[in-house]
Amino acid sequence: MQVKIIGGHGGVTKNYNATSYLIDDALLIDAGSVASGLDIEDQLKIDHILISHAHLDHTKDLAFICDNCFGLKGKPFQVYSHKTVHKAIKDHLFNDTIWPDFSVLPTEKNPTIQFNEIDNEKEIILGDYKVVPVHVQHPGDAYGFIVEKGDVAILFTQDTAATDRIWEVGKKYKNLKAIFTEVSFPNHLQTVADLSDHHSPQTMKEELKKMPKDVPVYLGHLKPNYQEQLIQEITDLGEPRLHIMYADDVRYQFE
Ligand SMILES: [Zn+2]
Ligand SMILES: [Zn+2]
Repeated sequence: MQVKIIGGHGGVTKNYNATSYLIDDALLIDAGSVASGLDIEDQLKIDHILISHAHLDHTKDLAFICDNCFGLKGKPFQVYSHKTVHKAIKDHLFNDTIWPDFSVLPTEKNPTIQFNEIDNEKEIILGDYKVVPVHVQHPGDAYGFIVEKGDVAILFTQDTAATDRIWEVGKKYKNLKAIFTEVSFPNHLQTVADLSDHHSPQTMKEELKKMPKDVPVYLGHLKPNYQEQLIQEITDLGEPRLHIMYADDVRYQFE
């Protein structure tokens, strides 16, 4: 399984893109930068889109991928999210004020985007992939995903503070090859991290103890304005299985 980090950050500025991970060119997790970071030709190849939660850095490019691919794809993008997340996107983004409602355009019968609901720990089959959504600790019914294809399973928490259940579910997978999770704020902003349900390096050190053992951990969602400090503080943890996703447009291959 290949994971392309179109954007791996918890914010947007020059050379830093918001969260969008593309699996094998077909399955997208989060839409923070899928339109700005991929050619339209590659945007058209995406079939399924998992949305972890409604925050803008995970959803904003749904607006632009629909605008780019409108009328070109022949079938809708199938979006999978919790009903709370779907409602937030419908009410606040595709509401015909901020942006047109592409779930009824160009026609209700043949729209650009279609929404499907996920349930906690209920497996969904998306083409070649088995996906289990697991609730995590972040505002607005946020979900992580365990994605499995053949001999490879990968766990993505997306945004979360300290959580337990996704680690327990992850331990059931003997073929778990990687964990993608987040560290957003440096240690001195612990109060902000706590209030917004994110990790700092010091809380990640504790979180690691709960994770499935001996699996490499990729840390993303670094806030661009604190990236250098975060890299230093994560490096200072001295944990050899941690990999810092400081650059976007990077591919990881897992077999
Ligand atoms: Zn985020
Ligand atoms: Zn968030």
